[in-house]
Amino acid sequence: MKWIVVGLLVLVYVFELIVSLLNHRYRVKPIPDNLKDVYDEEGYQKWLAYSLDTHRFGLVKRGFNLLVMLGFLLFGLFARLEVVTNSWTSNPILSTLYFLGLFQTIMIVLGIPFKYYGMFFVEARHGFNKATRATFTKDLFIQYVMTMVLGGLLVAGIHAVYLQFTDNLWTFILATWGIVTAVMIFIFAFLNKVFLRLFNKFTPLPEGTLRTRIETLATSLGFNIKSLSVMDASKRSTKLNAFFTGIGKMKEVVLFDTLIEKMSEDEIVAVLAHELGHAVNKDTWRMLFQQIIVILLYAAGIGFVLGSSALATSFGLSGTHFGFALILFMILFEPFEILLSIPLSALSRKAEYKADQFAVSHTSKEAMISALKVLSREDLVNLNPHPLAVIIYYSHPPMKERIGAIEAL
Ligand SMILES: [Zn+2]
Repeated sequence: MKWIVVGLLVLVYVFELIVSLLNHRYRVKPIPDNLKDVYDEEGYQKWLAYSLDTHRFGLVKRGFNLLVMLGFLLFGLFARLEVVTNSWTSNPILSTLYFLGLFQTIMIVLGIPFKYYGMFFVEARHGFNKATRATFTKDLFIQYVMTMVLGGLLVAGIHAVYLQFTDNLWTFILATWGIVTAVMIFIFAFLNKVFLRLFNKFTPLPEGTLRTRIETLATSLGFNIKSLSVMDASKRSTKLNAFFTGIGKMKEVVLFDTLIEKMSEDEIVAVLAHELGHAVNKDTWRMLFQQIIVILLYAAGIGFVLGSSALATSFGLSGTHFGFALILFMILFEPFEILLSIPLSALSRKAEYKADQFAVSHTSKEAMISALKVLSREDLVNLNPHPLAVIIYYSHPPMKERIGAIEAL
């Protein structure tokens, strides 16, 4: 049992390493013809340097995480953690919370140097990082508190259900499915309202032609724009984005301030037309539905791990342990997740083509193509991803194919 878990953990790492290396080797291929004007020579060299840096850094970070996890598994540290946290309380739910909270805290603390280095050395070296040390610390703190509070509530809820239905795993699985789905829909509905506002400032987009054009476009497609705001994303990063929130016809539009700075009005309107295309094509609902199915699979997975006490005892624990089962579940399900992401990413890429098509029919080919080029340039997008990396990880088609599809319309 023990070696199956360790084997899977290492296997996933090696697999990801191979994909990452293949992808990295592809970066030196010549720039595709329809993307020649995205980077000038200097810009392209800049991209190569960034790609090399993030690649190396990513490998080190993942290798380190693997070693820590292997250390915990092979040196019986989870069993130690069980003894310590059980001595603090006899309440099983509290003891699970201490167990996971302590483990999570150790992982987060060990990860801080990497986060710090990634932001103030890797991203900063290439001019991406805009965060100050104060923003970094504040974000880290808020993220930590939120992970502990929200994660803690969720784990406590599921554990309570488990205590009710310990002898009836399928009831537990279905109840867990229901709870997690409800939480996810709640977060989905309130994401922009609450969570993003913890980290960012929102100001209304001033009156002017841009505002009028966005409103005209939305109303002509039958949407009501409740609010149109600009988010101060430039506080952290130079990357561009725009998105809609809200369910149904009532939409809130959020533009990153970086988008307004870097794109022309035509390009911004094309980006928003693309996003509205997702809404018209019901992509948000499809994604929500997909998530609900995935949660059922996860709940069944957790049920499976909880049903096998031999898994826990093979790592030195005294028997089925709810907190440890969640950790094991994450390890065991990673290969499954990679397999699952293949069809899901394919569906998502198909939806992107359709949204592009929609945007072109409501704006113009030129505006959409030049918007995509600005996006590629500003975000230093990989112009030559390896096909295997695309199949597994790409929720958006590679730029070459995306622009090619628009040109062919
Ligand atoms: Zn899209």
